[in-house]
Amino acid sequence: ARTSFDQPEVHSNDWERAACPVSLGSAIRTGSVTCLLGDIWCHRVIGKLNGLVNAANKQLLGGGGVDGAIHRAAGPELLDACRKVPEVRRGVRCPTGEARITPAFRLPVFYVIHTVGPIYDEDEHPEVSLSNAFRNSLKLAKENNIQYIAFPAISCGVYRYPFKEASRIAISVLKEFPDTFKEIHFVLFSDELYGVWLQTASEETG
Ligand code: ADP
Repeated sequence: ARTSFDQPEVHSNDWERAACPVSLGSAIRTGSVTCLLGDIWCHRVIGKLNGLVNAANKQLLGGGGVDGAIHRAAGPELLDACRKVPEVRRGVRCPTGEARITPAFRLPVFYVIHTVGPIYDEDEHPEVSLSNAFRNSLKLAKENNIQYIAFPAISCGVYRYPFKEASRIAISVLKEFPDTFKEIHFVLFSDELYGVWLQTASEETG
């Protein structure tokens, strides 16, 4: 089930000019997973059919953290596209654990997959919601023939998910999609997150 929008042109020149606030560290690959230290909107996932995942909120109208960074870099067209995603109930375009797809406009990828992770302290079963967020993002990517995909550490910012548990969930869900993607990247925003993710990736896939 491909979504109906055409693939937008990639505005690579805009992207080349944008200043990247965090320099991307070297990519470390263990098994099928690559971990990078850096800022996801600066990250050009190689390959043509590519996308990145946004840790959004239920309204899908932008916010702080990685969501804000992605919207700023993608341009106002991304917000317009998100507004067009139908509400499932008042103020909710994407319930926790689900995912929605839009074009990526000025980002150096074709698609943005918006997913909503759990608020760790408020969700009754945060591990179920977080695994659903990763799983539904990967399902949507697969349905749209995305082959190269980059994730941030969903829920590990203001939603306060413990890093180690989150990394275990992320990597175990990836294993449900063997041979589906050419590259799966995790772009981690702090040294601490990067260290934890890399450790889990080497324990679980190495
Ligand atoms: P959530 O609400 O799901 O916790 P946040 O945006 O607060 O979302 O954080 C999600 C993750 O994204 C956190 O690990 C945070 O450190 C990280 N993050 C924030 N800004 C960026 C960015 N520009 N690139 C990559 N990761 C980012």
